[in-house]
Amino acid sequence: MASLSLNGVGVSRGVAIGKAYLLQRDQLKVREYLIPPSLVKAEQERFRQAVDIAKEQLAEVRQKIPATTPVDIVSFIDTHLLMLSDKALAKDPVKLIDERGCNAEWALKLQRDALVAVFEEMDDPYLRTRKDDVDHVVNRIQRILLNQNDNIQIMLDGRLKDSVIIADDLSPADTVTMQNEGIVAFVTEFGGPNSHTTILARSLGIPAVVGVKNALRYLQQGETLVVDGYYGALLASPDKTGMAHYQQRQRAERRHHAELSKLKELPAISRDGLVISLHANIELPEDLAMMNKVAAKGVGLYRTEYLFMNREELPDEEEQYETYKTVVKQLRGRPLTIRTLDLGADKTLSKESRHALSSVANNPALGLRAIRLCLRDTDLFLTQLRAILRVSADGPVSMMIPMVASVQELQQALTLIKQAKVELQEQGKAFDDTLPVGAMIEVPAAAILSDVFAKYLDFFSIGTNDLVQYTMAADRQDNAVSYLYQPTHPAVLRLIDMTIKAGHKAGIPVSMCGEMAGESRYTRLLLGLGLSEFSMQPAMVPEVKSIVQNSDVEQLSKKVRRVLRMSSAADVEAFIELLNSP
Ligand code: PEP
Ligand code: MG
Repeated sequence: MASLSLNGVGVSRGVAIGKAYLLQRDQLKVREYLIPPSLVKAEQERFRQAVDIAKEQLAEVRQKIPATTPVDIVSFIDTHLLMLSDKALAKDPVKLIDERGCNAEWALKLQRDALVAVFEEMDDPYLRTRKDDVDHVVNRIQRILLNQNDNIQIMLDGRLKDSVIIADDLSPADTVTMQNEGIVAFVTEFGGPNSHTTILARSLGIPAVVGVKNALRYLQQGETLVVDGYYGALLASPDKTGMAHYQQRQRAERRHHAELSKLKELPAISRDGLVISLHANIELPEDLAMMNKVAAKGVGLYRTEYLFMNREELPDEEEQYETYKTVVKQLRGRPLTIRTLDLGADKTLSKESRHALSSVANNPALGLRAIRLCLRDTDLFLTQLRAILRVSADGPVSMMIPMVASVQELQQALTLIKQAKVELQEQGKAFDDTLPVGAMIEVPAAAILSDVFAKYLDFFSIGTNDLVQYTMAADRQDNAVSYLYQPTHPAVLRLIDMTIKAGHKAGIPVSMCGEMAGESRYTRLLLGLGLSEFSMQPAMVPEVKSIVQNSDVEQLSKKVRRVLRMSSAADVEAFIELLNSP
């Protein structure tokens, strides 16, 4: 058989070799017919029952989720469950059956088309991909109405081991169901960098290529397939030379991983003896499993807003306290930095629990988010402050405030922390009165004024994700301006440098918890700028550690100062290339 090569977008790195498993779903054949008025009630009931069954099915998937499942995927399933209770999907089609006299499948299709049209109008590429969520939920209900089986459930008998799954698209429920089946790669015809397949494959650490047009048509069931997640390439039925090439790459990759995992127990010390702290960023307590796997030394950023998202009621003090306590207990003495709520912009609440102040701003990233929202709704803030303070009695906890732009905000936040302490004292509840309070430096104003901010704070943590967005005035989620989103732009680097210097001068620790901290290409640059605390996605820790061990910080600090005088990110990148060459 001749080899065939296809291309798509590589979204999760790695090389995999396996047998193609074509996930052919029966085409949904939605029939459209009119219902006589006497049968409308029964048709509405048939629809309601289908929604109930869909809920039961998803609740079952949710219940069986293994502890190792990435939180992103779990929260997708929660979102789908919420959608099944949402008026738009659960009630509006019932009305359509009555008003138009159409059958249940048709009513659902009409409603789906109306919802998808709204999503397609959206400018935000992330929200546009959320139309997939509507389709996944709608298709589940349609399959129930049409009495069609979902063939993924049927295949879970070990047949998928060593398979490369080829599908048009995969829903979160599909991926959760398949994740422990020994699949070696995912390939989909649709989907982009924000699709569920992408997120799941990355979290599971298996290669994935999306956007491979007509993959289901060209590939054969069971044929040998090479998936190259670096370059987005697929090679079907490779010849001897092709196979040998990829096997060799796979071996090199395994050696590299084995080397990295040996580093687990070794400290992150540079060649010239500097101890560097490598901490993990977490979003939910479940993320600690991955953090332990890479032996990160603590949590440098706990994004608490995830506890508030995808739910109808906001968590009260007790629930927050209990959740934070689970994290502290599991850390067994390792430090934990809890960030106060960073709601708003890209992190929004569900419609049901929408906060009274979360107005639909024209520029949400520049609007009432994070500390700004908390200072407007002091009850919301004080509740969280008390929960964080209480947990400081259970282990080494620090508190970090996001998005501070002015000294007034800092002073107000510190006053509220004092008030929360007084309230706890009055209630006779324990807390650590010396709990360190720091701030994220992620607004240019804060970086420029970091020498002043340092007087009020116990530590800084540089949030490059936002710092880059606000310095370059380039939305971090907008692909159209991603060319401007440059962490190595000299303007960004000067702000980072100012912050590190101001922190050191004032004798307070400076950490970095934006994505830049976990990007191993930038490790040497940051070490040279004097950064000695990094917090990152846990999976990045081994790679960054290996760079630290192979670097001489003193030499780097002499070399990197010139980046501050460079005129473009391109110049800095070229310099980094040299800095990283062995
Ligand atoms: C940042 O802005 O760099 C950061 C770590 O915070 P978030 O990504 O949660 O906004
Ligand atoms: Mg931020």
